[in-house]
Amino acid sequence: MLPFPRVSIIGLGLIGSSVARAVKANMPDVRITGYDADPAVRDRAREIGLCDDVTDLPGTAVMDAGLVILCVPVGAMGAVAHEMRADLPADAIISDVGSCKQSVAEALAEALPGAVIIPAHPVAGTEKSGPDAGFATLFKGRWCILTPPVDAPEVAVEALKSFWQRLGADIEIMDARHHDLVLAITSHLPHLIAYTIVGTADELGEVTQSEVIKYSAGGFRDFTRIAASDPVMWRDVFLNNKEAVLEMLQRFSEDLTALQRAIRYGKGDELETLFNRTRDIRRSIVEQGQDDDAPDFGRRH
Ligand code: NAP
Repeated sequence: MLPFPRVSIIGLGLIGSSVARAVKANMPDVRITGYDADPAVRDRAREIGLCDDVTDLPGTAVMDAGLVILCVPVGAMGAVAHEMRADLPADAIISDVGSCKQSVAEALAEALPGAVIIPAHPVAGTEKSGPDAGFATLFKGRWCILTPPVDAPEVAVEALKSFWQRLGADIEIMDARHHDLVLAITSHLPHLIAYTIVGTADELGEVTQSEVIKYSAGGFRDFTRIAASDPVMWRDVFLNNKEAVLEMLQRFSEDLTALQRAIRYGKGDELETLFNRTRDIRRSIVEQGQDDDAPDFGRRH
């Protein structure tokens, strides 16, 4: 049995459009209604047939939904929930795909008192944005972390779990604060570091710009992929997961200082020990199916 015969997707960018495509591919009988604040995105979604229906108001999109998934930047979750509040069916489950969970849980609980809210985060994405960037297999073999509040009805959690499993995801249940701490180190800090490195290189630009681009295959270009990620989405992630990111940043700065000292005092053994450990981490990621083993990220040479 389908966990939800009618699904509303609010925000039709990379993640929203991927959910729509994955639902169509895996549950063709589910009726999808979509909404996006951007009229150009709505037009494009209609043009490419992303949903069965795309509405011009958020309320109209959710009127008969069993599941509503908010796929907007995390800073916009509360406002968009507020906009649809009057039209939400009493038995609808409200979920989202935001990259941080505690602030979203709080914003949704405040905007929709009494509603069944089960925040979620599919740990899958790319550096692209918009309705054309999505694809149906984005969630296949990736983790989707659900962070239900303690009083969430078990049957609702099970239905959402089953929904994401049908899209190909593996499910993990986690406390929202723990999620934010884990993701601060696995996702948020790497993005911050990439933004910093690319920004620093850009500031050196006047002297070295042509060299920076020309020799980017030395490592720099791998950071530029991450640093090309959506500016609004990432602005919101850092502002909404402030404490966890600052804590991880503090630890990172201490480790960087230790590395700086090892280089200054010629402690090659310390460097080598660390680099061996990090190589093992890469190996584990490949072994656990979270990346493939193609050299140089599978680029053609
Ligand atoms: P995206 O491609 O930029 O799409 C977001 C869409 O939401 C845009 O079309 C945007 O319209 C629209 N929007 C913004 N505010 C809105 C509002 N108040 N009401 C309705 N629509 C609104 O971004 P995305 O990558 O799909 O990210 C969406 C969510 O997924 C974020 O919460 C992000 O943290 C989470 N997420 C992202 C990734 C990733 O890798 N990208 C991975 C996992 C989770 P505009 O054109 O006006 O901006």
